[in-house]
Amino acid sequence: MRRGILLLLLLVCGCREPTRLPPQGTGPSPADFSGERALDAVRRLVALGQRDAGTPGAERAARHLSECLSALGLDVEVDAFEDATPNGKMVFRNVIGRLPGRDGPLLLLGTHYDTKSGIGPRFQGANDSGSGTGVLLELARVFSQAGCPQGLDVWWVFFDGEECQRAYGPMDGLHGSFHLARQLARSERARDVRAVVIVDMVGDADLNITLPADTDTELAARIFSAARTEGVRKHFALMRGGMLDDHTPFQLAGWPTANLIDFTFGSAPGLNDYWHTEADRLEAISAGSLEIVGRVLVRMILDFHSPLDSEQQPRSEKLLN
Ligand SMILES: [Zn+2]
Repeated sequence: MRRGILLLLLLVCGCREPTRLPPQGTGPSPADFSGERALDAVRRLVALGQRDAGTPGAERAARHLSECLSALGLDVEVDAFEDATPNGKMVFRNVIGRLPGRDGPLLLLGTHYDTKSGIGPRFQGANDSGSGTGVLLELARVFSQAGCPQGLDVWWVFFDGEECQRAYGPMDGLHGSFHLARQLARSERARDVRAVVIVDMVGDADLNITLPADTDTELAARIFSAARTEGVRKHFALMRGGMLDDHTPFQLAGWPTANLIDFTFGSAPGLNDYWHTEADRLEAISAGSLEIVGRVLVRMILDFHSPLDSEQQPRSEKLLN
């Protein structure tokens, strides 16, 4: 790529010049996570247009994410692969950012970046999937600047093809997450995976994050503990049922997973009537909500190696509080 084009792209995506990562570090403060910056990242993604898997918009988005992560000093892989769908074979692209020179216990943070196809011209997917993407990019900024806790390898993963073409099924939806889960299960890093944490639809101003019932109990306790420490525990609860999302392939493979999702994205409390409609636009999401989720994840990562105290022990009756 010519330097002039790269510079232009960096300016367009608002990414910084490459920075040198501190090799180790005590890590940032949760207060370093800026909801406004995360919202800016969503705005820049949305400005690229709709990101339906298999379209030029999705390819544009993958390139943009790759450039943003590179500018933060992360090692970036864009993994393009073909997969069968009800509409025939399609090309998908997972974008993965890794801290250079890390190994050992692995924490995978994931979101999807593709949009649901066929919603309408005004649809932006600002919440689904912009919000998770904005949170992950801001987390990458925070940890690349302040350093990551010692002895932890963190991956920032942006999945393609989460949305189905017709109806969720064995060949429809979750393409990126199934692809990476299979790759990881076959690799020598499989034994290092300690947690897979997915964020999806986390931008609603009326924030009600739920963790599906299949969430790993210790991981759920860590997330609730982090939320309590940050003074935002009321926004987090355990879902009584399950949720099919990008955590599912990793959960099926046997790794501890959590899925942070607010599936009441709508015009009134409890309603989800903005989901997969043209109402999913920037004006429907809030920097404050992105910041709550981001701060909790920073806190959870900082405390990841600390033992849970008895107050935080993962007992089901406590999780349901
Ligand atoms: Zn969706």
